[in-house]
Amino acid sequence: MVETRLIDGKAFAEAMRARLKGEVAAFVAETGVTPGLAVVLVGEDPASAVYVRNKGKQTAEAGMASFEHKLPAETTQEEVLALVQALNADNAVHGILVQLPLPAHIDAQAVLATIDPGKDVDGFHVMNAGRLAVGLDALVPCTPLGCVMLLKDTLGSLAGLEAVVVGRSNIVGKPLAQLLLREDCTVTIAHSRTRDLPAVCRRADILVGAVGRPEMIRGDWIKPGATVIDVGINRVEKAGGGTRLVGDVAFGEAQGIAGAITPVPGGVGPMTIACLLANTLTAARRQAGRA
Ligand code: NDP
Repeated sequence: MVETRLIDGKAFAEAMRARLKGEVAAFVAETGVTPGLAVVLVGEDPASAVYVRNKGKQTAEAGMASFEHKLPAETTQEEVLALVQALNADNAVHGILVQLPLPAHIDAQAVLATIDPGKDVDGFHVMNAGRLAVGLDALVPCTPLGCVMLLKDTLGSLAGLEAVVVGRSNIVGKPLAQLLLREDCTVTIAHSRTRDLPAVCRRADILVGAVGRPEMIRGDWIKPGATVIDVGINRVEKAGGGTRLVGDVAFGEAQGIAGAITPVPGGVGPMTIACLLANTLTAARRQAGRA
């Protein structure tokens, strides 16, 4: 029986935001420039509206300017592209984030491709994805960046460790695999067509769930002592009515097996916005020729 340590992403993210606030103040004092983050939200997806509100609040708390553009669901693709182009040209805007998912009539790839790669604080532009893949400086997607920060804080060097990432999305799984490779892990990316997923997971010193299936990764899929990062955010019905959030990992079963694990909520989730703020400051520094 292993004693399972809880990886407190909420506390880590709070400390990171406090540090960033100091760095932003120093940057403003030095350059006279206030880093600005523009967030574009199209439509009325309630979860997206909550994220956008939190992003705006935390951006302002860090001493940066927050520009929110809320557009109705029937906005055309041309209108969204025109807004992105205007934000690309706006000197007060250093970071641009288009909240996904976009309504079905809008081609998300076309929108992402229009964002100036230097302002692409979500790191979804092919230029940033490509730079990450070939080992050049890039704006890196926020959730994977947050995962690696928590892993390094928990384990120190990740060199030589077996990492299994379950999920291969462009937003989480693939960039996380790239980052783990950059940390000298031996990386396996698993997905819906992987054969004998439990056996693949049991090889992992670092096991990441980025699937979107409630508690799919069971306790006996985890190698004793492994570090488990649960990216999944799934809303499920509670026995007595109402709903609660669970991850992709059966958290209760992992106790006593995993060496360390991120809870849901309070693990990876809070790191995403903290990394978004960090990326915005990085983008502002580069645009001001200070990085
Ligand atoms: P996607 O739906 O884009 O990708 C899910 C991945 O999981 C796919 O690669 C899919 O494989 C794989 N998958 C699906 N079913 C299985 C299965 N039965 N066995 C193995 N692999 C499977 O999701 P995202 O990457 O966008 O998000 C994943 C989760 O992370 C979600 O719960 C999301 O809410 C959460 N999330 C959390 C964030 C945070 O801030 N904490 C940020 C972003 C996401 P295939 O490619 O073969 O279809």
